[in-house]
Amino acid sequence: MRLPGGLWHDGRRHREVGFRPLTGAVELAVSEALQTAETLPEATTMILQAALAHIGDLAPETPWVDALCVGDRQFLSVCLAGRLGEDEVWFTVECTACGQRFDFPLRFSALPVKPAGPTYPFCETDLASGAYRWRTPNGADQKILARFAPDDTAVATLLQRCLVREDTDAQAADAADLVDGLTAAEIDCIEAAMEAQAPEVTGQVQATCTGCGRVNVIDIDPLFHLKRLLRDVNVDIHRIASTYHWSEAEILSLPRQRRLRYLELIDRARGMAV
Ligand SMILES: [Zn+2]
Repeated sequence: MRLPGGLWHDGRRHREVGFRPLTGAVELAVSEALQTAETLPEATTMILQAALAHIGDLAPETPWVDALCVGDRQFLSVCLAGRLGEDEVWFTVECTACGQRFDFPLRFSALPVKPAGPTYPFCETDLASGAYRWRTPNGADQKILARFAPDDTAVATLLQRCLVREDTDAQAADAADLVDGLTAAEIDCIEAAMEAQAPEVTGQVQATCTGCGRVNVIDIDPLFHLKRLLRDVNVDIHRIASTYHWSEAEILSLPRQRRLRYLELIDRARGMAV
């Protein structure tokens, strides 16, 4: 699978990523990440670490998963939700016009992806004080900003982090001074330059109400869908262990489809299946 952006490391983009087989161990680690992480960006890093096998030639260690741009992290979260939901899931929303609840199918693989720009992960801006180079925001930035109130300090911190300078010694002090001196119009121009290069997964879909025909715009949050699609793996372990007397490690190493198949067989044996 190819990332829309890719991890910039050693002067090149690492775009080929692979997921681990979707075993109970992976599913359990993803559930635990969603329960224990203090912020959503931290949860995303933990989830991707549990689910990914590699990012290019690199192991999915925290610094690399954090260094993935925001759009790549969205893309991978959507792919993971697709793997758990077998690509298509149905969900229920309330119509904004008539208030009636209706179901509609969401295909994760069909969510439009905006590709990265030609100079990704960098962009350049011509400002009053000179020409500057920036990189697109990544997971490490998101983790830090998640602890800020969404105000000007957060924007200044993000811009300082994303300013690219060759001379790293002078960078910290320079970046703070430069960002302090930016006008609102210049900040808008930098944000637009970053957005032009950053890949993005569409966060909204349109669905037509079956009651009144109104087209509703629905926000898609991949972590919400992940939460919904995850099974309670501990219950699965208990049921399979009670029947087959396998160890926890053996059950956790089963691919998800085989675990579900065994659960179906257990239900059938008890006469619970239709
Ligand atoms: Zn309606």
